[in-house]
Amino acid sequence: MAQATPGTTPHDSSAPGTPGLPEGTERTDVLIVGGGLVGLATAVFLARQGVRAVLAERHDTLAVHPRARGVNPRSMELLRGVGLEEAVRDTVSARALADNAGVIAVESLAGRHLGELRQSYHQDSGADYSVLSPSPWSLCHQDELEPLLHDKAVELGADLRFGREVASFTQDADGVTAVLRDRGAAEGDTSAERVVRARYMIAADGAGSRVRSALGIPTHGPGTMARFVNIRFDADLREVLGDRRFIICYTTAAGARCALLPIDNASRWLLHVIDDREAGSPPLSEERCVELVRAAAGLPDLDVTVHDALPWDAAGLLAGRFRQDRVFLVGDAAHLMPPSGAFGSNTGLADAHNLAWKLAAVLRGEAGEALLDSYDAERRPVARATVEQAVLRSKDRPRLVGQGTAEPDPRLRPDPAVMFHYRYASDAVVAPAPTEGTDGAPDLWEADPRAVPGTRAPHVELELDGQKLSTVDLFGDGFVLLAAPGADWTAPAGAAAGATGAAVRALTVTDAVPAAPGEARSVSASWSERYAAAPGQAVLVRPDGFVAWRSDLPAEAPTPEDTATRSARLTAALLRVLAREGTEAAERTA
Ligand SMILES: Cc1cc2nc3c(=O)[nH]c(=O)nc-3n(C[C@H](O)[C@H](O)[C@H](O)COP(=O)(O)OP(=O)(O)OC[C@H]3O[C@@H](n4cnc5c(N)ncnc54)[C@H](O)[C@@H]3O)c2cc1C
Repeated sequence: MAQATPGTTPHDSSAPGTPGLPEGTERTDVLIVGGGLVGLATAVFLARQGVRAVLAERHDTLAVHPRARGVNPRSMELLRGVGLEEAVRDTVSARALADNAGVIAVESLAGRHLGELRQSYHQDSGADYSVLSPSPWSLCHQDELEPLLHDKAVELGADLRFGREVASFTQDADGVTAVLRDRGAAEGDTSAERVVRARYMIAADGAGSRVRSALGIPTHGPGTMARFVNIRFDADLREVLGDRRFIICYTTAAGARCALLPIDNASRWLLHVIDDREAGSPPLSEERCVELVRAAAGLPDLDVTVHDALPWDAAGLLAGRFRQDRVFLVGDAAHLMPPSGAFGSNTGLADAHNLAWKLAAVLRGEAGEALLDSYDAERRPVARATVEQAVLRSKDRPRLVGQGTAEPDPRLRPDPAVMFHYRYASDAVVAPAPTEGTDGAPDLWEADPRAVPGTRAPHVELELDGQKLSTVDLFGDGFVLLAAPGADWTAPAGAAAGATGAAVRALTVTDAVPAAPGEARSVSASWSERYAAAPGQAVLVRPDGFVAWRSDLPAEAPTPEDTATRSARLTAALLRVLAREGTEAAERTA
């Protein structure tokens, strides 16, 4: 894939027929390369923010293999925000696997039970997350999730093009010019090419990202740790399964670290097998696949239909940069991790969600370009830490069958921490510099995430105008200022919105019963305790549900400031978050 050095191509104006751009060049705000799970989610989140986006996917169809399936509570919150939570829970796989929990090890399904994963850091989909989130886990297979994302993106106005490959691109100071090629066209047929000019481009083109290579972005990390084949098969295992309802079942009889995964707890299954044959060897024969399935089941005469065998690598990799000028990397293009922990596409969804509101704010002119730098500053450290956690979990799995170290690695963090309790440190957050962790890097994990700037705004169930909802449901459209009773924040929110052009909604939240008209009231827990909010104090939440700023009222001695001071402080914070602090100062000086 070709890529010009940024800034070397001639300046491009936006009029059609511009010199340097072919006649018929199409224009959009964002071009998304790749329509896998993360590319589709990117299209949904951008369209939800009102951004014009074109997505090009080289395949003609959506995924047919049920690859990823663990949609974690944070991702379910993001899907809830675009109205997809119920549809995901209503898929065939999510309904079939709603009561599955746990990781077990057996010789074979018919054989001896060897152990189960009972580590403090591992809380699987059966765990109760209701204190942390309104949205529990869902085990929805990728081949059912992708169509939901596709239809939602189209409904919200995204332009999705399948069978179209991004063959090359160049970028300059104002945008990205890409050539989209019809994959079905004959070699050399230039009529099958369309040129798309976008303000920004997002590479969601997967682990082997050619966009990343074209940009010369290196990757770091342990690399490939093991090669697997994922066999999709039908066999009636109901009798031998009995009433066991696991997420993964390691089976030693079919070879080390083979794992059986249910699709419907009955006749549809996946078997992951280690592929220790030489790289580049021909695909596993159907006969061998049947043999492995029979060994895993412990039933030598089992009737098996193999559908396909998908090779994949368990690898740990991180891109050295998530942004290069006008191009951003998301999903597997940015980070690759072993599936232990099910963090892969969940991390990709969080990337896309983090980027969408920032691009929207810049494109609307509400934020300075520098806001986009915070994408790399926020997501890359989180992705690095998540890759590390997935690798640690992967290395820990042999302990399940009595191999490996006696004790878990002390660096392992509990699943809820990995999903929820990281802290962004960037210019898009107004917070003191983070303390250093043991490795000298800023400490990413927040031990007491009570609405600390840079952390996800905690979930508390509220009642507002007779309706029950989560705080999480308040976020998505513009900024939200949650305030404890004791000071009026409505006028300051209006002043900050007026000064920046950004939407700012002020809402007073009380623990008292009854709440005053227009106030929200805590239902499930004390809001003021969960947000560490003293009377009169306010917390500003970004459209992605992360805390941007909090008013610095000392909790012990609340002194209601005057409205003008509160307005000035909130406006200054918002200008800083939107990367307009310097610009506004310069404008004032001028
Ligand atoms: C066995 C297995 C189990 C997993 N389980 C889980 C799980 O339970 N939970 C979880 O969160 N994650 C899981 N993962 C990880 C998850 O599957 C990946 O992280 C996720 O699918 C990555 O999505 P993506 O969209 O970034 O990349 P991909 O799915 O690789 O999609 C990239 C897309 O880009 C397209 N493309 C590439 N180049 C171009 C181009 N030039 N022009 C146009 N299109 C292009 C490709 O055709 C492809 O469709 C699992 C992975 C594996 C292998």
